Amino acid sequence: MEIVIVGASFAGLSAAIECRATHPEASIHLIDREKEVGYYPNALNWKLKGSLTSWDQARISLLKEAEQAGLDWKLGTSLIGLDGERKTVSLKKGETVFELAYDYLILAMGASQIWERSSGELESRLLSSKTIGAAQASLEKLKDAQSIALIGGGQIGLESLEALSQLPVRLSLFEAQDSLLAKYFDREMTETLRMELEEAGLDLHLSETVNDIRLSASGQKLNLESIHGQYEADYLLIGTNFKPNSQLVDGVLKLNADGTIWVDEFLQTSQPDVFAVGDLIQLPFAFLGKAYLPMINHAILTGRQVAQNLVEQQWPLKEVQRMISSHLFGYYMTSVGLTEAEAQLRKEISTLRLQRPFSDWDDRLLDFKLVLAKETGQILGGQLVSKCQHVEQMDSLALALSQGLCLQNYLDQSWLCLPRSRPLIPLMVEAANLYRRQLLDQD
Ligand SMILES: Cc1cc2nc3c(=O)[nH]c(=O)nc-3n(C[C@H](O)[C@H](O)[C@H](O)COP(=O)(O)OP(=O)(O)OC[C@H]3O[C@@H](n4cnc5c(N)ncnc54)[C@H](O)[C@@H]3O)c2cc1C
Repeated sequence: MEIVIVGASFAGLSAAIECRATHPEASIHLIDREKEVGYYPNALNWKLKGSLTSWDQARISLLKEAEQAGLDWKLGTSLIGLDGERKTVSLKKGETVFELAYDYLILAMGASQIWERSSGELESRLLSSKTIGAAQASLEKLKDAQSIALIGGGQIGLESLEALSQLPVRLSLFEAQDSLLAKYFDREMTETLRMELEEAGLDLHLSETVNDIRLSASGQKLNLESIHGQYEADYLLIGTNFKPNSQLVDGVLKLNADGTIWVDEFLQTSQPDVFAVGDLIQLPFAFLGKAYLPMINHAILTGRQVAQNLVEQQWPLKEVQRMISSHLFGYYMTSVGLTEAEAQLRKEISTLRLQRPFSDWDDRLLDFKLVLAKETGQILGGQLVSKCQHVEQMDSLALALSQGLCLQNYLDQSWLCLPRSRPLIPLMVEAANLYRRQLLDQD
């Protein structure tokens, strides 16, 4: 059996490891256009923050496992075509073009971060860390940087902003929404962070969309333009707009309107024996139907899943929850499920916000917000912001969401299995009391 996997990152590596375990007899060919693969995309940030002494420390642990799985590695090799009738892919290495036949093909080419209106001319002024080569080149560029513009005040933009703020450079951040991390947090939950960043001298432009970016006449600067003004920067970091790398198969495979590859619940594309995983696809997402959720854990999950579905349809996609966690400028920030802004478009909701000290002996503030379905009390989302580590407690909330639990059921279950000393539990008890009071007041 010939299994061909294109893309050797989170999704492709986990697919290769699982394919080896499920099909010990198969020849597995793992293809990637990069010569060096298997690094976290956060490597540049970690380097800037001094948490990496060597780039090797940013390697994904899946890579070691894959290296022991007896694979045929074809690195520095790009997919350039797919013939679903003949079951072959066309590959290019250097100037050499050749074909490879498959019984099963897994596409794991991921996504790129792009500036949609850009031609290649901006390349020399862009900072990126999607590949290790790009991260190393960006570190070199930063040696002469005096000003950097970042587009996108989401998780990637803010994590980069924090890392770059270690350098003596002028930083400006542009975000189209009126608050930071707006996809995951309601505005009031990130206001303290915004104010602290502004007080620290960071130049934040919220509700401001950059419409045009051009290289200056000297080629040494970038000129950015929005309806509010014109700005100049030495370098640009784009923290928005993930675009699936699906252009190559457009016309061969069915694509969704957002450019993701259409797959059925077993990850098969519109062509028999051709599968797609990771950042190339949408996933079933609670309350929203399907959504594009380009994240590492989804890439690993779908990579594992696809191996079980190649020959027989065994492991269908299930609804995923969105959970993001970041440690930004001293704040631990976690969001699970829907925000108030998202939920109220779909249901009648109740929201509860509680701010309390972390514990009797630690007065650092926990800022917690819960989004519930008004009538049933079903938990739709939760946001927690604090200077204390709390991520693992939010895991239990994510589990409650995926089980469709209402607040009282969650508390009944947590009471039995979670230590009461955990700060989230008393907060949830208080939220339940508040919610009951809201219902009584309404009656
Ligand atoms: C700066 C940054 C920070 C991020 N931080 C986080 C985070 O903290 N948490 C999180 O969950 N997610 C994060 N992400 C998102 C995460 O990186 C992706 O969700 C994840 O990498 C997707 O994995 P993948 O294997 O599907 O695709 P990718 O990691 O994009 O890998 C695709 C692979 O396919 C190869 N490829 C593409 N086209 C071809 C071709 N034509 N021929 C051959 N090979 C090809 C590429 O070289 C690449 O190796 C971050 C992304 C960025 C850019």
